Amino acid sequence: MVFTNGAVYTVDAARRWARAVAVRGGRIVAVGTDDDVRDLVGPKTEVHDLKGRMLLPGFQDAHCHPPSAGLQMIQCDLSDAYTAAEYARIVRQYAVEHPDEEWIQGGGWSMDAFPGGTPTRDVLDRLVPDRPAFLPNRDGHGAWVNSKALELAGITGETPDPPDGRIERDERGEPTGTLHEGAMDLVEKLMPPVSEEDMEKGLRAAQEYLHSLGITAWQDAIVGGSYPSLEAYVSAAGKGELTARVVGALWWDRHRGGEQIEELIEKRDRSSVGRFRATTVKIMQDGVVENFTAGVLEPYLDRNRKPTANRGLSFVDPELLKGHVTRLDAEGFQVHFHALAERAVREVLDAIEAARRANRMNDNRHHIAHIQVVHPDDIPRFRELGVVANAQPLWATFDGQMEHLTIPFLGPERATWQYPFAALVRSGAMLAFGSDWFVSSPNPMWEMAIAVNRMAPATYRNVFGERATKEAFLPGERLDLATAIHAFTMGSAYVNHLDDMTGSIEAGKHADLVVVRENLFDLGLDDLAEAKVLLTLVEGDPVFTDPSFG
Ligand SMILES: [Zn+2]
Repeated sequence: MVFTNGAVYTVDAARRWARAVAVRGGRIVAVGTDDDVRDLVGPKTEVHDLKGRMLLPGFQDAHCHPPSAGLQMIQCDLSDAYTAAEYARIVRQYAVEHPDEEWIQGGGWSMDAFPGGTPTRDVLDRLVPDRPAFLPNRDGHGAWVNSKALELAGITGETPDPPDGRIERDERGEPTGTLHEGAMDLVEKLMPPVSEEDMEKGLRAAQEYLHSLGITAWQDAIVGGSYPSLEAYVSAAGKGELTARVVGALWWDRHRGGEQIEELIEKRDRSSVGRFRATTVKIMQDGVVENFTAGVLEPYLDRNRKPTANRGLSFVDPELLKGHVTRLDAEGFQVHFHALAERAVREVLDAIEAARRANRMNDNRHHIAHIQVVHPDDIPRFRELGVVANAQPLWATFDGQMEHLTIPFLGPERATWQYPFAALVRSGAMLAFGSDWFVSSPNPMWEMAIAVNRMAPATYRNVFGERATKEAFLPGERLDLATAIHAFTMGSAYVNHLDDMTGSIEAGKHADLVVVRENLFDLGLDDLAEAKVLLTLVEGDPVFTDPSFG
């Protein structure tokens, strides 16, 4: 296969451009001018005149949850709609098309589509009168249920709120159809468990969608947890149905200690199949800022800007964490950390430092995902300790959540330490990009548009369905497009130890490639967000072809 007359952005070390690429046996065999590949064209060669369109290495997502996200896509998926009327239409249609399903499951609705953010059961009863329906909202902290679901769970006006949740009620105390936080469990525990088969279906739907966005590899941020996603990957990979390259991060059970390491090794050993391997361990060190569970150094402020006593959580004791990370590192595991705020980030860096001291520097490429708030003193430590910054650029916008739920409680100084992507790059840290899909969109074009502008495109909505303002969020942390593309290709390939064979367009590497309709370097914020992938190849095989590509 030969591509000519293209804007080929290679993402090689010199960030070279080329016009033509030749592929044979799944490998890139030549990169250069149209003349350079002319002699390679034989009678059986497929030649594509790109007419100036862009050719890039396939994108790689460094942190996402495809099997569960895909499962939501093929269930009653409300995540692409924003009004109560659209939700009603989707739920009704789904119920009609799936008469045999015992439960209506799915979700992804947005709170601001309903008065007070709480949809009611009477509406859902008209759409689904015959069986229980359970539909969590976009951020997963509340669910919309119908009367059948409430009945099955025995929830009435008499039912007390559980200690960790709330049943939404009318003035007579009767449940109205929204369950908050822990109250969701009252219904959720009655639902059929997610089977391996469901997870595999979800994985297939997710893979198809991700390929359509130009994604050829990813790191799954939780496998081996409460859902059978590890089994789904191993099964799909064994049948040759996993066309993407995937590294799975094995879930660290924070209620247990080092004794689980033997099990993790056993899971790693039996899970390397086809394009899948589970060579990473995921440790969640804190919660999130919006509900004050992210670990901060100085306490959160209250509504009157006065310090509270709350410094958030450390899910793993920082001293124990040093020991666990040192052992995992010695066993050759990469550790993928979840750390949102500055104390958690520091605890994780301290643990990696302890591991480096005990085991010396190695090539395990530990990485910290989310990094919402990073203390300025810790920025250089990423580079010093060889830690990859695994960033979710879509979150770095100035929207209502940032303005009302985050900045006031962090305080003015600390609020400026958020999403310090440019500072990390300047310090020499390796930057990788990931979406955290299903939490937020996996579309690399949206993510890169925001990374470059720190502003949301017109089509963007946050997890609450809000548009972001047209004000740039900490514009000093904008990245140039070349750096953003690098983070989504070589940066994430580095995290997955795939950078020797993928991540750039160079002779000898796998032909994991993407054709994009536009040259991304020509585009402003809104056009960049809408740029379109036309063809995605993994090892030279088309895994997505847009009808307009020809
Ligand atoms: Zn995640």
